[in-house]
Amino acid sequence: MSEHLNIAIDGPSGAGKSTLAKAVAKELNIRYLDTGSMYRAMALYAMRRGVGVTDEAGLKTILDDADITVVYDARGQRVLLCGEDVTDRLRTPELSMGASTVSAHPCVREKLARLQREVGKNYDVVMDGRDITTNVLPETKYKFFVTASPEVRAMRRFNEMHARGDASETYEQVLAALKIRDHNDSTRSYMPLRKAEDAMLIDTSELSIDEALNTLLEAIRQKETEQK
Ligand code: C5P
Repeated sequence: MSEHLNIAIDGPSGAGKSTLAKAVAKELNIRYLDTGSMYRAMALYAMRRGVGVTDEAGLKTILDDADITVVYDARGQRVLLCGEDVTDRLRTPELSMGASTVSAHPCVREKLARLQREVGKNYDVVMDGRDITTNVLPETKYKFFVTASPEVRAMRRFNEMHARGDASETYEQVLAALKIRDHNDSTRSYMPLRKAEDAMLIDTSELSIDEALNTLLEAIRQKETEQK
């Protein structure tokens, strides 16, 4: 088990995980690792190499060359793909869907989970994703499952896109894509998204960011005291 503080947060797309995880990391002055961006980088790599995200055999042949590294600078986490900073290219609808498909392959998950565990072993970190509490950091005491209704999550995504000036999708399209990803993530046979029994459930449907953050920080402090 890591000697570092490892906080694990899982949940479906758009539940507010990354906003919360970033805020917790800032509050505790530790790192934040967005594991979804690593799956997005893997999908981008497959596309660049001309390998389909459903092609398991093809993915296996390029996996060793997919050099995905996470570094930190003043802007926060940066994802390097074979040395190139691709962070700002990862949050497209195409790569959201690509990541969801590519992440179903056990060979991809094993590689990325290994890299993520390495971060947990070496640093105090808040990690968010789909299998952090169940597979990447199952031994940590700090486990959270953050969720919200599909409609609330789609509306948040849609508003975020709108605020960025991105009008490429309607609310209905965002909701439909989110439901497909939910289905992919929770029904894949290897390491599906599920709530770990000992993870604390936080439903953010009717909570403000501050309220959800306080709930999380309070639970972390309580667990810290229990551990002493
Ligand atoms: O969190 P984000 O939306 O960036 O993740 C993109 C996709 O990557 C998810 O829909 C999910 O399929 C996959 N993912 C995963 N395991 C993680 C993080 C992300 O399977 N730990």
